[in-house]
Amino acid sequence: MKVFKFGGASVKDAAGVRNVAKILGMYKDENILTVVSAMGKTTNMLEKVAEAFYHNNAGVAEQIEPIRSYHLTIMNELFSNKNHPVFDTINNVFAELEWATDGEPTKSYDFEYDQIVSIGEVIATRIVSAYLNETGLKNSWLDARDYISTDDTWRNAAINWEATENNVQQKLVPLFAGKTKLAITQGFIGVTSENYTTTIGREGSDFTAAIFAHTLPATDVTIWKDVPGVLNADPKWFDDTVLLDKISYRDAIELAWFGTSVIHPKTIQPLQNKNIPLYVKSFIEPDKTGTVVSNEENPLQIPSFIYRMNQVLISIMSKDFSFIVEKNLMEIFKSFSEAGIKINIMQNTAISFSVSVDDDKYKIPVLIALLQKDFKVVYNSGLELITVRNYNQQTIERVTINTEVLLELKSRKTVQLLVKNLEQLTSP
Ligand code: ASP
Ligand code: MG
Repeated sequence: MKVFKFGGASVKDAAGVRNVAKILGMYKDENILTVVSAMGKTTNMLEKVAEAFYHNNAGVAEQIEPIRSYHLTIMNELFSNKNHPVFDTINNVFAELEWATDGEPTKSYDFEYDQIVSIGEVIATRIVSAYLNETGLKNSWLDARDYISTDDTWRNAAINWEATENNVQQKLVPLFAGKTKLAITQGFIGVTSENYTTTIGREGSDFTAAIFAHTLPATDVTIWKDVPGVLNADPKWFDDTVLLDKISYRDAIELAWFGTSVIHPKTIQPLQNKNIPLYVKSFIEPDKTGTVVSNEENPLQIPSFIYRMNQVLISIMSKDFSFIVEKNLMEIFKSFSEAGIKINIMQNTAISFSVSVDDDKYKIPVLIALLQKDFKVVYNSGLELITVRNYNQQTIERVTINTEVLLELKSRKTVQLLVKNLEQLTSP
């Protein structure tokens, strides 16, 4: 049994959905659980609905309308029969969305966010499932919330592995042992023990695929992407990228952690624990082999480059220039945790502690205010964090042309450079 994951880009329009059908048609003889995320940029659009609903309770309808028409356009292209039941199904889902955003918010923003934003995956899977059935790829639509059990950390829910494993064993395994060969379900969403919908963090559908694969267990997982596999650099910044045809779980975790956008960082561990290989393949060229992530090391260690833009360097000093000691560090880390900010790199000297974090116009001011209670804080934004895995001197020189290096951190395999791009500053 296999697990497939198709992300938003693969189902962003009718042609995309047809292409998914084509790929699934190539695997007709296999049992496949397919995880599908919200179409195109739907999640971003739903985030705007959540904001409108929560923050000023105005403009909700204006934010919903483009989402409705976007999906209707896709459905109109996919279903020539305008009486197809899928139109009613989607209508009902939108009615649910309107109902969820009617009146005053009753709970926290993060709670409301989950109830609203999760709807994108429901819509996408309903459309894809109906279309596949229409084209002869008989499948069951499954509600991921019947399986993926979580705590109630809204927007970043933690998986309840025991309950999830039970659900999968009791309800999903028998389904595939029976008539079902193909099932379509949502990524990104889960459910609390009180039956409220949760989400597990943006881009979390890869992780959902891994959770299903781990608990089934599946023979392998394939993430279908708009790139040929895991590349050694983002083609956005590099002309001469190389496809890594084979990488170890360890490398994949490190690359994902440092910011390769190809695989969600949480995806690897559940697969590694059961030794389930992960394929990253192109939905544009589905016959190509792509990248396989497994417990096998690639003997060929090609340098990989990861860029994180919009970094802020924050330097923290004690107000009286005394040393930064463990007690201060404890306070500092507590502030980061409270502000919900992930540290990308950190470095300390006797009197200062410096970190680089992703810029965030809401969270950063909260953090600075927290830190300023006890410390002197200076910061510098608009920076880039470059990570090179399997680096050598030549690669460092290559990435630091026209930059000022503000922080440098080296380990045996990885170098991280926080730089100010000087070229950008001189351009108009
Ligand atoms: N639709 C969600 C998002 O865009 C989850 C995912 O795509 O993996 O973040
Ligand atoms: Mg997505």
